[in-house]
This record gives sequence, structure tokens and C-alpha cells, in this order.
Amino acid sequence: MSPNPSLSKSRYLSGDQCHLRLWYDSYERDLAPPPDASLQTVFDTGHEVGRLACERHPGGHNIAHDHRHIRGALEETRQVIEAGTAPALFEPAFRHQGVLVRVDILERLSGGGWRLGEVKSTTRLKDVNIPDVAVQLWVLRGVGLDVREAEVVTLNRDYVYDGIRLDLDALFKRHPVMDEVEALQEIVSFRVGEMLAMLAQPAAPDISPGDHCFTPYDCPYYGHCTRDFVWPDHGIGELPSLHPNRRAQLEEARIEEIRDIPAEFSLTSLQRIVCRAVRGKRAIVHGDISAALARLTPPVHYLDFETFAPAIPRFAGTSPYDSVPFLFSVHTEHAGASLEHTDYLHEQDDDPRPHIADRLIDAVGTKGSICTYSHYERTVLSGLAATVPERADELAAVSARLFDLLPVVRNTVYHPEFHGSFSIKNVLPVLVPGMDYDDLDIPDGRTASAQYMQALGSTEQQERQQTFDDLRTYCERDTLAMVRLRQALDAL
Ligand code: SF4
Repeated sequence: MSPNPSLSKSRYLSGDQCHLRLWYDSYERDLAPPPDASLQTVFDTGHEVGRLACERHPGGHNIAHDHRHIRGALEETRQVIEAGTAPALFEPAFRHQGVLVRVDILERLSGGGWRLGEVKSTTRLKDVNIPDVAVQLWVLRGVGLDVREAEVVTLNRDYVYDGIRLDLDALFKRHPVMDEVEALQEIVSFRVGEMLAMLAQPAAPDISPGDHCFTPYDCPYYGHCTRDFVWPDHGIGELPSLHPNRRAQLEEARIEEIRDIPAEFSLTSLQRIVCRAVRGKRAIVHGDISAALARLTPPVHYLDFETFAPAIPRFAGTSPYDSVPFLFSVHTEHAGASLEHTDYLHEQDDDPRPHIADRLIDAVGTKGSICTYSHYERTVLSGLAATVPERADELAAVSARLFDLLPVVRNTVYHPEFHGSFSIKNVLPVLVPGMDYDDLDIPDGRTASAQYMQALGSTEQQERQQTFDDLRTYCERDTLAMVRLRQALDAL
């Protein structure tokens, strides 16, 4: 507790979600886990997007004092505004009634007054952006600034990079939000008062976790707030595709466990199978696995891609957040059960797609089924065909040989330890005991993409090579997992 509590823009937004979250942000931040590689990539992306958005305002003044030198930032902002020469300010600082904000872009309007700009690295305006800008407007008005316009600046998903020069005007999309943020001014004023009063209390507010913990953001203190929870063994959340109305009915009847669902309660056939498996504590084979796998023709290949999706397009013909494959792994099972592995990781900064296309066509040849575990590989292949038209026919032929193992699992077998998910990460350790991803430094696709982008930007050769090795190991595990999974399905 502080005798003089204060707020920042991000803390105001935390308090808008939950007062306890704001309390923790203010006084017990260590209760949140440190940012992982994926979150760090989100921060890095935000900085890169913010820097480019500022380049649209030549002659703008960047406030040099950072968050550790707030007094300096406030004073520098005051001086630049008074000087009246800079057409725009980047990261200007303002404080009003205990609320400090730093504005992404404050633009001087030719007819007088200012435009407040909030830069987001997303591709669309979101509801949550409105209170974000509203609290900034409240502070700026509070210190007497004549703000006449407000906007959220996002990336433009329709922009296509020509591979030569980024067209910054086309890369960004401006969303005017003045009316919406004006309408929130009284509410902001009221909530700021509530939050400051709460922060001046001697103890944290008593708030229980609930749906608000995930809206509009996943709260980083969820692990802490639920540390004493006794979670159900197999909660109703494990029922696949449970309709919200059905879920509400069960919650109303205080039914948390699948095993307690009454027999007459209406469920889909798959949900009924899940109930039977949970009650019987055993796997249920409910479809014809042999018939499903009979369509496979040898030699059977197993394919997995890893992709990354840069916010700022790097390669000709791509738009913000287009997925670009940078790595694939292929295991091939020959007659007699001998297994062969090949992969390709693009280690240079240039466009990986032509290299991936060439190497993949060689790796899978022209014969045999190609197993995947999702339809994502099909999407990647059609993207590759559009990018490398000279190999489009061969890529289409590869695509025609794809065989998705995921629906085979979903339509034929359920084990209580799947916990309602048919993701390979859940299914693998159950159907192939002893095989999982726990020993890997890169445990999932999101981390793989984040680590790849960081490695590309790194000048540390050893670190870079280590990441590339880890990426290959992860992708190889994905395809080996499919081999073992298919063998386990055969055995079932
Ligand atoms: S986990 Fe939920 S209850 Fe706890 S601080 Fe976050 S939003 Fe509030």
C-alpha cells in the first residue's frame, strides 16, 4: 500500500479488468511469471511497429527520457510543446491527478489543436483499444491540451510488400475513435477515483477468479489466484464442442465433473463417448481404425512444417502476419519398416519459400501417402504453390497425397487422459507411453516461431546455431511422434 497511489495507462487498463490485478501490478508484481520467449517477441514486435509508425511523421521529436526518468520526460514534453516547432511528439509524457500516460504519437494539427495516436501491432481495431485511448485523452485534457482528434493506428492486413521498399502510408491503417473515447470521459474520471481509493487501502481487495480473468486479456496472476483450487479430475470443460447453453445448464446444476452428468442430459455422440471413457477409466475405441488407415499407400511419409508470421512483411508478395514456412521435417517409412529422416531449415535472412519448396519436393518424392496431424500443412502447401508458381504443379501433387491423422484419432479412439483435446501433445503420451515433448528446449510451435525470429536477428553465432539445432530437434520430434502414433493406432 502507498500513501500516494498512482496509475499508469497500463495499470488503468489492469484495473478496468480487475482491481486485484491492479493491486498486484502496483505492489506484488513478482506474483506474475516472467515473460517467456513468445511474450518477448510480442514486445519486440510492438517496438518495431511503433518505430515504423513514427517514421510517417518526419521532423517529429522523440522524447528521449525513458520510463526510469519520468520527471525528465514530463519536462522535455513541456518544453517541446512550448517551443511549438515539432510537428509531432513520440512518447510524450503527461500526468494528471495521479495518472501518468505516454502517448505513442501526438500530432500537431495544421488548424490548431492535437491528434492523439495509439499504435497497435494488430491488424484491426478492438473494443479494448477504446478505454486505452480514453484514459490518455482524459489525462491530456486534464493538463489543458487541446486534443481535437484521436485515432488507433493498426497494421493493414491488405497491404502487400513489393520486396523493395515499405510503403508506410499503405502499411498502416488509421481508425478515428474520437467519438467513442469522448463518450467514455466521465466513466474514466469515475474509475480513476475508484482505483486510486482502492490502492490507498491497507490490504488487497477480495476478488475471486472468474470469467473476467480472461477478458479482455488473460490475467498473468491466474496461477497465483487459483493456487489453492482443487481442480476437477475430468471437468465438464473436457467435453468436446460443449455448447455454451449446455455448459450453463450444467453449471447451474453445480455439476463440475463429467462423471456427475446425469444419464438423461442431452449430449452429442462424441461427448457421450467421452463420458463413458471417463466413467470407465479406460480408452474406448469407437470407430474402425483399420478401415481409416487402409487408405495409406507405401512408402508412408510424415510431414510437419514450422512457420513464422512477421508483423512487418519481409518478403515480396507478403502482407502483415502472413505465415512463412522456414523448416520442415519428413520421416519416411519404407517397406520392412525401415525409417528415414530428412529436414530443411532455412538459416539465411532471405525468403525461405523457394528453398522449402525445392527441398520438400525432393524429400517426399512422387510416391506414397504423406501423413500430417492437422490440415495446416495443406494450407502451407497452397501458399507455397502461389509463391513458387514454377513448382505449383508438383506442390499440388504433394498436397493431393496428404493424409490427416487427426480426424482418424478423433473419429475412432478416446482416452480419459486426452483431457478433451486431440492435439498431438495430449494424444501422444497416452497412446505412445514414454514419448512426449517434455525434454525439449522448444516445446511448441509458438515458441519455435519466436525463437527462429530471435535467432535470425542475433549476431551470436553459437547461440544462433544452438537455436537452429533445437528447432530441428523439435520438428523431428513432431514427425517421429506421428510415426509412433500411427503404429500405436495400428496396434489398437
Ligand atoms: S486472476 Fe482474476 S481475480 Fe486474480 S487478479 Fe487476475 S483477474 Fe483478478
